[in-house]
Amino acid sequence: AAPIRLEAVSKRYADGTVAVEDLTLDLAAGETTVLIGPSGCGKSTVLRMVNRLIEPTSGRILVDGEDVAAADPVTLRRRIGYVIQQVGLFPHQTVRANVGTVPRLLGWSRSRIRERTDELLELVGLEPGRFGSRYPHELSGGQRQRVGVARALAADPVVLLMDEPFSAVDPIVRTRLQDEFRRLQETVRKTILLVTHDLDEAVRLGDRIAVLAERGRLQQYERPAALLAAP
Ligand code: ADP
Ligand code: ADP
Repeated sequence: AAPIRLEAVSKRYADGTVAVEDLTLDLAAGETTVLIGPSGCGKSTVLRMVNRLIEPTSGRILVDGEDVAAADPVTLRRRIGYVIQQVGLFPHQTVRANVGTVPRLLGWSRSRIRERTDELLELVGLEPGRFGSRYPHELSGGQRQRVGVARALAADPVVLLMDEPFSAVDPIVRTRLQDEFRRLQETVRKTILLVTHDLDEAVRLGDRIAVLAERGRLQQYERPAALLAAP
């Protein structure tokens, strides 16, 4: 089964706004698929539906072959990692505690959580001895973003959803994070659905790019080279 499959998914909000209409999309395992399109075309709505923060009005979303509408919320938390623009770290918890959020929810032992959080901090380039006991306000924006990525990877999710993950940091840090993201993805090879409105970022990070128009209409779904070669 595809790690993520959307089948004829539509979303109409309570006020009547149709954000997504009849979107069908299959993601390839171990690849980064970038959703790109103008502001308001439904990108965040798609991610929020996959993560079950909101429900589709019609259609189905399958993660790892299972309908998310029927999935148990804790199981879903384990299967899906989620990284958003403003990270949303818990301000009164240390870096280690933040990274260990989902493992704690899953009832892992303290020693297993400690081992896993330190391994992840290494992976995202934050030395555990130096950064593990800090609080989010003692980090730079780029470092907070890395903690967000480590937290999302903590329980080894099947898929990683990233909503504009690098847009809140300044351009120089962004370029560095993008490079690190690529190296990280070569190591972990997650199935990633990444939303951006930045074509440059899409081409740098995407194995495939899904171009959306308004109402989540899928216009193109191509590898970056094919997209750039198109007239
Ligand atoms: P994008 O992420 O591509 O900018 P969104 O998914 O955030 O787009 O929004 C898609 C459309 O749905 C927009 O027209 C937006 O105004 C509308 N929308 C988003 N959230 C809501 C909501 N909670 N209620 C009503 N309309 C919404
Ligand atoms: P970046 O260029 O990555 O955004 P900054 O210039 O914001 O980094 O921070 C530079 C260094 O100072 C980083 O290693 C960061 O961890 C450290 N730092 C930033 N803010 C604090 C703070 N409030 N307390 C301790 N160290 C900090």
